[in-house]
Amino acid sequence: MAIREKAKKLDKILSTLERTYSRAVLSEGKNLLERFVFYWFFYASPVTNAKKAVKSLLDEEEFADWNEVRVSTQRELQEILEANRIEDASDLAPRLKTFLQSVFEELDDTDLESLKEMKPDKARRFLASLPGLPPWAVAYLVTLTGFEALLPWDPHTERVGGRIGLFDTGAPLPQRKKQLRAALQDEDPLRLHHLFVEHGKKTCTDVDPKCPKCPVSQDCAYYLRRGRRAKKAATNGTNGSSPTNNKKKR
Ligand code: SF4
Repeated sequence: MAIREKAKKLDKILSTLERTYSRAVLSEGKNLLERFVFYWFFYASPVTNAKKAVKSLLDEEEFADWNEVRVSTQRELQEILEANRIEDASDLAPRLKTFLQSVFEELDDTDLESLKEMKPDKARRFLASLPGLPPWAVAYLVTLTGFEALLPWDPHTERVGGRIGLFDTGAPLPQRKKQLRAALQDEDPLRLHHLFVEHGKKTCTDVDPKCPKCPVSQDCAYYLRRGRRAKKAATNGTNGSSPTNNKKKR
């Protein structure tokens, strides 16, 4: 598929996903730290729970500011995350504390805005050295802080983009990234990332994707391939389940 066609297809898919899941899944918060913490919680938990958890951390009756969150106990943090039904709260609480501590030690503050004053190379090195962050979260931070427009490459992006057919799944990783980046053109990579994460959590799940309910199924290579296979199997008289026809044969 020509790059222009692929870009058009991706644009349509992103608009459909945004309508389906609403703009609530996009990056949100008054400052960079709030936006990043929201993203961190949202990655594996429902968006409403992520919003509530961030709100709890910002509640002045609990913590005066992010610096107080940093010096709170792991148990306190874990309880807040659990109360807001954040997945893996026991793992996330110490990682969030370590993250805030590392930022504080480098910037003398927990506010990520001051990162913008750093030289780009130094800031990139610092972000990559932060403990407890997967590579896609580092890419997310580099993009969020405006140093580079990277597309965070995580398991949801790999799975959703590959199934839809936005890149050649047999190509080496740098090629796959390049192909998806080319299709995205100048659009915001974090918008794509949030929408693919939500789609990957809710619909295009690793096991048993919910294709019949998928809003982008008509643009999905995996779905269309399965449909063709099922049709062929039906024509040959062998058993096959069509993604477009689940009625039992009488
Ligand atoms: S149709 Fe199925 S495989 Fe394709 S994007 Fe939707 S859920 Fe994923």
